[in-house]
Amino acid sequence: MFDFLIVGAGFSGSVFAERIASQLNQRVLIVDQRDHIGGNAFDYYNEAGILIHKYGPHWFHTNDKGVFSYLSAFTDWHYHYHRVKSYVDGTLVPIPINLDTLKLLYGLNLQSPAEVQAYYDQVKIPVKTPTNSEEVVTSQVGEDLYNKLFKGYTLKQWGIPPKELAASVAGRIPVRTNRDDRYFTDSYQGMPKHGYTAMFKKMLSHPNISIMLQTDYRTIINEISHKKLIYTGPIDSFFDYKYGKLPYRSLRFEHETLNQEQYQSHQQINYPNDYDFTRVVEWKHATQQKSQVTTITREYPMPAEGGMEKYYPIPKEDNHLLFRKYQEEADKLDHVVFCGRLADYKYYNMDQVVARSLKIFEDQIQVKPR
Ligand code: FAD
Ligand code: UDP
Repeated sequence: MFDFLIVGAGFSGSVFAERIASQLNQRVLIVDQRDHIGGNAFDYYNEAGILIHKYGPHWFHTNDKGVFSYLSAFTDWHYHYHRVKSYVDGTLVPIPINLDTLKLLYGLNLQSPAEVQAYYDQVKIPVKTPTNSEEVVTSQVGEDLYNKLFKGYTLKQWGIPPKELAASVAGRIPVRTNRDDRYFTDSYQGMPKHGYTAMFKKMLSHPNISIMLQTDYRTIINEISHKKLIYTGPIDSFFDYKYGKLPYRSLRFEHETLNQEQYQSHQQINYPNDYDFTRVVEWKHATQQKSQVTTITREYPMPAEGGMEKYYPIPKEDNHLLFRKYQEEADKLDHVVFCGRLADYKYYNMDQVVARSLKIFEDQIQVKPR
């Protein structure tokens, strides 16, 4: 007999489980079809003893002090700024585009943010409001920088031309006029000191929480008595695809351990115009782990078909309209809460998922004493 059945042990499900168990003293069963907790943020020490992220690089960053404080109850942090280089025209250049990107690509010797902005103003293709991922870039930095750094990467990553993709996708990447080469400028950045999985273990260690892995919730839902359901899986699957399948993008991860101390000069190198993979991450750069060997991960984007995992909702108008149909169905179900990247069909970062789960817990689940 459980008060709550939670589907999915990723960030969304784990935050709910932790809050309900510790704040409401109610019993929770959290179920995941995978053989581990942590959802897509799961990390582990591989056969060579290197800490890697199974489902691609997860760099934590937030401006939300509440989210950072909440998670800090379950982990210390390895403070760390994420930096990325892009391999363009045979050279490694900073992405987000900044003063040094222009210097390396064009030999421009611009000195101040005002001079850099003047350059962008000269090359940009102005539009009133960018409506897609091509316009959001060309309207800031023009066609050549778009072609060199964004066009090929976006096409590879999403399998559709950037013109068909919402502006918010490429709009995630800022354009800089200074020399700041951090990928994110958020106030709180880093990674859980002992890894994400260790943090999740602590979140879920409350005696009111039971965990069931390698279990599709559909196989147990009729046998487990519960008062409320929290669902963090794909929303279209919950409704048996009655309006059709929502498109998702998947990835194949190629993890490789090499018998050398270092493979590449930087933690992450993006390949917009070469190879079938989008990026290569070398984990030790981020964790500062010491070892004679190193592990790298290459990411190959592909459609989420034929049993491939659903990693990315595809932000696009048609898809949003289809999602709205499912959302209307979801709104009719009083005893089910839908939350998370797959249930909300939104390209959320980890901190956004934590913030949303905490807010729903406060507004809809926590019974406030009168
Ligand atoms: P998930 O982590 O997907 O968890 C959902 C869980 O539900 C899964 O474990 C799944 O197995 C389970 N489930 C689904 N259906 C069923 C079922 N029928 N029965 C039982 N269990 C089920 N965010 C950042 O902030 N920074 C980053 O650098 C970053 N990098 C990313 C890189 C990649 C490649 C990807 C894919 C995502 C990245 N993210 C990043 C986003 C981050 O992964 C998500 O915001 C976050 O993990 C979402 O958590 P969630 O709990 O909503 O979903
Ligand atoms: N992007 C790009 N070139 C890059 C990095 C990003 O074109 O070198 C675009 C691409 O469309 C990508 C989006 O910006 O999908 C968001 O990038 P981000 O690094 O945030 O992707 P994620 O880590 O979520 O996969």
